[in-house]
Amino acid sequence: MKTKQSAVSVKADPRLSEGCAVAKKIFTALFLLLLSSNVHAALNVFACEPEWAALTQQLAGNLANIYTATGPLQDPHQVQARPSLIAKARSAQLLVCTGAELEVGWMPVVLRESTNSKIQPGSSGNFEAAQYVTMLEVPTRLDRADGDVHAAGNPHIQTDARNFLPIAEALGKRLILLDPANTAEYRQRLATFTQQWHAAIAKWEKQAAPLKGVSVIVHHKGFPYLNDWLGLVEVAELEPKPGMEPSASYLGKVLNDLQQHPARMVLRAAYQSERPSEWIAERAHIPAVMLPYTVGGTPQATDLFALFDDTIAKLLAGLH
Ligand SMILES: [Zn+2]
Repeated sequence: MKTKQSAVSVKADPRLSEGCAVAKKIFTALFLLLLSSNVHAALNVFACEPEWAALTQQLAGNLANIYTATGPLQDPHQVQARPSLIAKARSAQLLVCTGAELEVGWMPVVLRESTNSKIQPGSSGNFEAAQYVTMLEVPTRLDRADGDVHAAGNPHIQTDARNFLPIAEALGKRLILLDPANTAEYRQRLATFTQQWHAAIAKWEKQAAPLKGVSVIVHHKGFPYLNDWLGLVEVAELEPKPGMEPSASYLGKVLNDLQQHPARMVLRAAYQSERPSEWIAERAHIPAVMLPYTVGGTPQATDLFALFDDTIAKLLAGLH
């Protein structure tokens, strides 16, 4: 009853409105304090792909405001340097990308237009994950006629869970360099992640044992790291050249070649069209398996751990 009365009489009672003014001042002061502490605490991170946003989240938690530039159902080779990306890059203190030319079609424009010196190549705010892993498929010669071939090697490093260990260590160090006031928390988070990730890798390798030596066709050359990790054997690609969609006649040729090199399943990333792999799967009587490829690629792949749980579950399901 008392509360109701005072609520009604707020305007009538001058003492109460005085109280309101004081409360307002306190609220304003608290709000400004909160705002200023946020400005100091949170690092603005621009992640090029969802897997690096997820890793940064693991290592920084609330210490970072993370913006993810591309979605899991977007072809990471084909991104437009939209004004919204440039605006986000302008306020970023750290860029976390794959590198190895994966973002070569849009990042140079974003970097230039952002006019942000903190995130330019060579600056401490520019982090390229590919620099910390052993690259596969490094070409011995470079020819644009070969399609989307990258000088630094195949950029799809996120499909081997082991790659996240050296990348996490390097990213943890980078976060400390940029935000030394929170060194203890970054160290703690890195240690926790590393320990949990080692345990998860052991679990995944045990689960994936039946995949060793299994022959697969891939839509795009997006899985050499996954194959290297789990022992899958790639016998064919559906793309005539990396980044080039297959024609019906090319698919016919792949189907024909399968007689010499049979495959157990055909793999594609969540962002790719299902049509070419479904076409082959139907005629070769093998399952077409869609893998999440990155965090969010499937409803199950909700974080980095779930990404690999789901990848292995889908591969194992493809064996049956
Ligand atoms: Zn590619």
